[in-house]
Amino acid sequence: MIMQGKKGIVMGLANKFSIAYGIAQSLKDNGADLLFTSQTDYFKTKISDIAKEFGNHEVMLCDVSLDGEIEKAFDEIHNQIGDIDFIVHSIAFADKNELTGRYCDTTRSNFLNAMNISCYSFTEVCKYAAQKLMPAGGSILALTYYGSEKVVQNYNVMAIAKAALETSVMYIANDVGSSGIRVNAVSAGPIKTLASSGVGDFSRILEIDRNRSPLRRNITQKDIGDACTFLLSDMASGITGEVVHVDCGCSTIGVRF
Ligand code: NAD
Repeated sequence: MIMQGKKGIVMGLANKFSIAYGIAQSLKDNGADLLFTSQTDYFKTKISDIAKEFGNHEVMLCDVSLDGEIEKAFDEIHNQIGDIDFIVHSIAFADKNELTGRYCDTTRSNFLNAMNISCYSFTEVCKYAAQKLMPAGGSILALTYYGSEKVVQNYNVMAIAKAALETSVMYIANDVGSSGIRVNAVSAGPIKTLASSGVGDFSRILEIDRNRSPLRRNITQKDIGDACTFLLSDMASGITGEVVHVDCGCSTIGVRF
């Protein structure tokens, strides 16, 4: 129960296949009190049903692509539950028509939208968390993927957004560290979700990863959730500015016969 007495926000739950769902399960199993945000009213209804598993807090609307939404949501959250200990940012978006073919054919509008939702929003989340929600310190986590480090076919603009996100983690960790706030990312192995289904040939990526990884399997929601819980807990009190791979070791393999 390493999260006993801690409360926090999980952003990016869409359904029971979401990485955010696995993280929420692990956090709850370890004693945390959770509040969820939702991108739209449509998702809010679905998330509210799922959120009942995790307690009775209202789901807060927060479309992170819009000016003022994160600050407004965090103000409402503060009114409802007061100061918090952690935030999970499990959010990304790119036009699926451009998650196939050549990266260099990405349009300017998709590039900017992907960067806004998948990277800039994390910067704002950290800024307002530090200003409004975490006077006694805390821990903030983003989700990233290996496509930021090496070419993964079809990951395209999302890879560029993840590379920027990972660098943001370091810079923000430095900005807010003196307030006792830690900022990290988990680089998760591929797992089938609503978002990942938009990446061209995703089932082949899953298969290749399964065969390549030292553990000879794909990652699970629980693998990711438990690692995230550790990083959000006081057990990780000396870890900040890091990208931790939770990918069955896949990123460590160069050539294997
Ligand atoms: P998912 O579709 O379940 O979750 C993505 C979430 O992003 C959804 O809840 C969606 O509502 C939210 N979102 C998109 N645009 C938004 C906006 N404008 N405002 C607020 N929320 C918005 O998919 P997932 O795979 O669980 O993705 C969660 C995170 O994990 C993402 O950052 C993703 O890049 C990352 N990740 C996924 C994988 C994978 O293989 N699935 C691997 C590594 C990292």
